[in-house]
Amino acid sequence: MENNTKQTDKKITIAIDGYSSSGKSTMARELARRVGYIYVDSGAMYRAVTLYALRHGFVGHGKALDREALVASLPDIHIGFAAGSGTDGVQHTLLNGEDIESQIRDLEVSSYVSPVAEVAEVRRALVRLQQEMGLDKGIVMDGRDIGTAVFPDAEMKVFVNASAAERAGRRLRELEAKGEKVSYDEVLHNIEERDRIDTTRKVSPLRKADDAYVLDNSNLTREEQMKWLIDLFDRITGIS
Ligand code: C5P
Repeated sequence: MENNTKQTDKKITIAIDGYSSSGKSTMARELARRVGYIYVDSGAMYRAVTLYALRHGFVGHGKALDREALVASLPDIHIGFAAGSGTDGVQHTLLNGEDIESQIRDLEVSSYVSPVAEVAEVRRALVRLQQEMGLDKGIVMDGRDIGTAVFPDAEMKVFVNASAAERAGRRLRELEAKGEKVSYDEVLHNIEERDRIDTTRKVSPLRKADDAYVLDNSNLTREEQMKWLIDLFDRITGIS
């Protein structure tokens, strides 16, 4: 039987950052599977806090975010992950024990997540949790500030990019496959707006870490991206 899980004694930390819908989560999850590491989707954690804020009326329907109410509720928000149920095998995000995986991917949560992620107290709480998850290394985490703020000492840092039009096309196909009725323009607008907020916010704005390797995947197939990542992993861990 073929064993495509790479084994090495020296476990490292892998930080994958990039713009919205750059395909980084898919590639980070697949990399973790192939090298036998834990995978953590940090964006899902910001999305879970956003869902909580929407459910409690702290944001939504064009209303500005009630930061104070959200910050006061932070001790009541418990985020976790569970192995995927059913056949998808994908890790599911839990909010106070409830599986919210499908709800955090819709356009409503996507529209409000960047303002929530700007709140310094939210970032502080989530970054602490993310750092605890990475204490033993052997982890692949993807997000916006993983190589700059969460794991500044990560041995392998990757910054993923693709044009906004390319990313909007991919995201539209994903949403359509799930039966959501949205237009290309709506999706493109959401992506550009998130890029704008994520790159200009005061606390940990999205930027490439100085020591990150850049992967522009606009014209790469999924397999080509994986080969690029595995080659880099092998070089850093000294396998080849
Ligand atoms: O990765 P994903 O698109 O699911 O992330 C959703 C949002 O969460 C981003 O647009 C960003 O505002 C926020 N985020 C963040 N820092 C991270 C991960 C996500 O600010 N590490």
